[in-house]
Amino acid sequence: MSGEMFYDVIVCGGGPAGVSAGFAAARMGAKTLIVEQFNCLGGVATAGGHGHICLYSSWGTDERVVGGIIYEIAERVAKAGYGICTNSSADFEIEGMKLVLEQMAEESKTDLLYHSFVSNAVVKDGKITGVVAQNKTGRYKIMADRIIDCTGDGDVCAKAGCGFDMGDEENGFCQPVTLMFTIGGVDYEKVSKFRGNDYKLVDVWKKARENGDMRPFQHCIMGWWWTPTRPDQLGINFTHINFIDSTKAEDLTSATIEGRKQAYETIEVYRKYVPGMENCYMISTPNTIGIRESRRIHGLYTLTKEDLLAMRKFDDSIGYGSFFIDIHSVSGPGMDKKEYHPEKGFKYQIPYRIIVPKDIDNLFVAGRCASCTHEALGSLRVMPQCGVMGQAAGVAAVISLNRRISPKEVNVSELQKNLKDQDCIF
Ligand SMILES: Cc1cc2nc3c(=O)[nH]c(=O)nc-3n(C[C@H](O)[C@H](O)[C@H](O)COP(=O)(O)OP(=O)(O)OC[C@H]3O[C@@H](n4cnc5c(N)ncnc54)[C@H](O)[C@@H]3O)c2cc1C
Repeated sequence: MSGEMFYDVIVCGGGPAGVSAGFAAARMGAKTLIVEQFNCLGGVATAGGHGHICLYSSWGTDERVVGGIIYEIAERVAKAGYGICTNSSADFEIEGMKLVLEQMAEESKTDLLYHSFVSNAVVKDGKITGVVAQNKTGRYKIMADRIIDCTGDGDVCAKAGCGFDMGDEENGFCQPVTLMFTIGGVDYEKVSKFRGNDYKLVDVWKKARENGDMRPFQHCIMGWWWTPTRPDQLGINFTHINFIDSTKAEDLTSATIEGRKQAYETIEVYRKYVPGMENCYMISTPNTIGIRESRRIHGLYTLTKEDLLAMRKFDDSIGYGSFFIDIHSVSGPGMDKKEYHPEKGFKYQIPYRIIVPKDIDNLFVAGRCASCTHEALGSLRVMPQCGVMGQAAGVAAVISLNRRISPKEVNVSELQKNLKDQDCIF
């Protein structure tokens, strides 16, 4: 693969948004390529070591509000025996997820280009016409009629010249980053019983800190992910590094080194303080540190916390979000003061306009880097919603291509009809 190549649709980044965008476009007959810097699809769900997806249902209920490709993925992973899936969430083996996503790429005839970093955008007269990929082969352009930025960091949009915001509007800080890790040798039943008394193990961390067994980087469990298909293993969401700009390689490097130190420190605490974890051991740290927040690209509309809490209706809705406003402290351990838990049944509509960048044409932005405020991102950033945005971007890309119109001119009813036909929920 070298020299200049041409696609109908290029998706940059193969995370939850990227696979949904790519598979949707390819299934509608577009010649589609996903360019991914790592060696697998899935983003945070695989390369980031996070084997848990939530929330498919409205907050605190069993009413599923997300369908489409991102739910199909959860169902297929469970059916293949690599995990479990309910109306609310999915827990899975990361390696199994990688395999299923590649099967889905093959079936939908989505081309993949791994080990390739998208380092620049090709723009002419305010329209994106291609991207520059950097890899072992060299550095070369790949051209396309429509490009969908699913890099999480909005790398393509930023290079193309789109405006963006980053971090908390009050101080500019992004949410902390977390190096996930997977441990084995866990007696889960024993651990669950112990955890029943103190769900977030706050007392354990307190004791460990007082005894000098860990530094005060975190003080409660952020997530333990478990699937019955691997009963002695746990995925751990605990490490916590603040003040990181994930668009800078130097910050990513220092955060990864610190994250790994924290992970090993955490295992020592587990062994000493948690019954059922006496013999636990490190299985893996992932390819990449988990990033919760970076660039939010300016779209035709910016989704706000007020929209979410009012459960505002949008004519151009592409699906629902429903997660609480999950903001980890931007300046220390634990959760942020801006964290917010809504009422049971909470669900809000996601407008199409937040995935259409306002500054550059023929470009979409889906996933964590879509157009919203810091607080709205606290909820919108979870994987089902990244999938909702990705699928809508893939479908809208093909509609705009077939009708020879700009993404800004896509007929919302036509988009919604296509999404409905693809089992998406409104
Ligand atoms: C620690 C942590 C815990 C979380 N917990 C949950 C949870 O419990 N449930 C949940 O649903 N969500 C959770 N999330 C949120 C969720 O995982 C992410 O917000 C979501 O994965 C974002 O999806 P995405 O497709 O936008 O980006 P990502 O998943 O980040 O995928 C982006 C992809 O693009 C690739 N890429 C990036 N830049 C380039 C480039 N320039 N060139 C080529 N490829 C590139 C990356 O390698 C990656 O594969 C968590 C996130 C973190 C970090």
